[in-house]
Amino acid sequence: MTIRDSPLNFETLREFVLMFNLIFPPLCHACERILTQGEKGICANCRHELPQTNYHLQNPNPIELHFFGRIAIARATSFLKFEPNNRVQHLLHELKYHGQQSIGTMIGRWFGSILKESRFFGHVDMVIPVPISAKRIRERGYNQVAYFAVALADEFGCECSMDILQKSKEVKSQVTLTAEERTKVLSDTFSAKSNNPLKAKSNLLLVDDLITTGATLEACTNTLHSAGYHNVNLATIAATISS
Ligand SMILES: [Zn+2]
Repeated sequence: MTIRDSPLNFETLREFVLMFNLIFPPLCHACERILTQGEKGICANCRHELPQTNYHLQNPNPIELHFFGRIAIARATSFLKFEPNNRVQHLLHELKYHGQQSIGTMIGRWFGSILKESRFFGHVDMVIPVPISAKRIRERGYNQVAYFAVALADEFGCECSMDILQKSKEVKSQVTLTAEERTKVLSDTFSAKSNNPLKAKSNLLLVDDLITTGATLEACTNTLHSAGYHNVNLATIAATISS
């Protein structure tokens, strides 16, 4: 029996997909409106109206000023402005908790092409996603930052490393701690493979989904510095930090 003769042949499958889309039409990941033909992931409206920071056009920008005096970073930026209950929050929630990893790819390509064209980071040798612990990977099934990191690396034409930086455990909520205490607690949870001296001048791009206090990125950067990686840049999908 060939696939054409089988009960679930190509036509049946196509009809099934069409029927499925009629009952469950694909929705915009940001505003939940039904997508029209040709729209993928987010609707045209959101593509134009999502609040971009344009921090790559400022020198120094608010993210860089936020880290000034805390850690030595080359350059840092974030793509979107995060506010409670805005479309960006919905987008990140879908990416992190509902398995919508294609959002990471879409934003990574979009943001990556803007950053590449502006030459904001200059040459990037390697993209590194902020890791999550093995326990969290088992629970969630994926690191929500990984697809964003891979898409950025594709745009920059460089490698994406998933194993240079590791997280040994998750730590509980740290809302009662100061930023300094939070960074110290987090630093003990990250480790990095020592750098090959030949790569000491590598220009790294450390990426995360959201920057709020910056404690996680600060701890990761400190860990990379200790392992011999001195040129660390930062990029996130969204930020609560504004000018
Ligand atoms: Zn939308």
